[in-house]
Amino acid sequence: MDPWENALKQLDEVARVMDLNDEAKEALSLPELVSESRIILKGEHSTDVFSAYRIRHNTARGPAKGGIRFHPQVTVGEVKALSMWMTWKNAVSGVPYGGSKGGIVVNPKGMSKKDLDGLSRGFIRSFSHVIGDNIDIPAPDVNTTPQIMGWMLDEFEVIKGRKEPGVITGKPLELGGSEGRTEATGLGGFYTILNAVKAFEIRGKKVAVQGFGNVGYYAAKFLSEAGFKVVAVSDSKGAVFDEGGLNIDAVMKKKKETKRIQGFGKEITNEELLELPVDILVPSAIENVITQNNANDIEAKLIVELANGPTTPEADKIFEETKKIVVPDVLANSGGVTVSYLEWVQNNTGYYWTQKEVREKLKGVVDKAFSQVHKKMSEQKTSMRNAAIGLAVDKVVSAMKLRGQL
Ligand code: NAD
Repeated sequence: MDPWENALKQLDEVARVMDLNDEAKEALSLPELVSESRIILKGEHSTDVFSAYRIRHNTARGPAKGGIRFHPQVTVGEVKALSMWMTWKNAVSGVPYGGSKGGIVVNPKGMSKKDLDGLSRGFIRSFSHVIGDNIDIPAPDVNTTPQIMGWMLDEFEVIKGRKEPGVITGKPLELGGSEGRTEATGLGGFYTILNAVKAFEIRGKKVAVQGFGNVGYYAAKFLSEAGFKVVAVSDSKGAVFDEGGLNIDAVMKKKKETKRIQGFGKEITNEELLELPVDILVPSAIENVITQNNANDIEAKLIVELANGPTTPEADKIFEETKKIVVPDVLANSGGVTVSYLEWVQNNTGYYWTQKEVREKLKGVVDKAFSQVHKKMSEQKTSMRNAAIGLAVDKVVSAMKLRGQL
């Protein structure tokens, strides 16, 4: 289950539905730039070598934009897929960016702060020649934080000998970060869920959220504050389930204190969480968790992908038959990049908005993107994924044509 194969299969399906010509399909099937590097970290206790990638998929609509992931399962195929999904996501939400992504093959858990700082700076030393505030703009992703963005910004500015806060987003507020960025993906996901519940007339309010990191925690928090019953959440160590609904802030407090979420309701596995009798399922962790092996066992009527790539193309086919609605990642989790865009605008103008202003702008972008994708889905009688990627491909191909590339 190589995510790149999945991303190409999704593009194939959209090309078939929209009758895309072969040249355009071929141009979109190849990334613009693949940079691979090794990072040597002279750490506190040992010297270690890591593989790292920065991949630019398409920049027809603007500078490339995409996060950096620190995870032991990072592969070149995964980073390529994530960069393509960023191209679609930015086009669907209308932010003036192309798509990119980066990653280091590393398990950062247990690394000292000093080593994490060194590794983050190593990434920038490897790729400072291919990033820039009008070239390619990184941001956080799995296991990367505002503090890591701060170290990366510092290294970049030292190398370049100038201030360039817009080179990286998701920074701490003191370094030019935006109000509202930390919770943006979860909040954007929450706005998307409100739209989907209305559009698809979902009556029940029971929710299961897989993943309790930045995205999953904030999505669960906003949902439960709005009266949804979040009955299960999970992290990589397992899931907790409480039929009566979990107290999300209490679970987070426990996770901060003990690094575990266990201790609330019943302990279940991540696989069991996906198959719970809930109305809404919100995968917010990693790729390929919903496959042909478990898609038939999923009971939720609405699946909202806050993770990137949680559903395989084979599972998508099953959901079409079982009439489940999948709100795809490129639409559902675009809140993060939307507020990253707002951060970049603020950096470039030197004028900063309040949290209220940022949240209002985010809601406007999310609501508009949802209604455009929903309209296309209804008109073309296709899946929401095909509609969203189709809309994005239209915009990207049009920009490439106007540039004379196609
Ligand atoms: P994070 O590192 O803050 O959290 C990831 C969570 O997933 C953690 O709770 C971790 O324990 C859990 N997890 C890891 N492996 C798991 C497994 N095998 N089974 C179940 N849970 C597992 O990362 P994040 O920023 O919250 O990102 C989560 C997802 O959302 C990723 O797919 C990411 O690409 C996507 N995303 C993130 C952003 C953003 O702004 N951070 C934006 C768009 C999309």
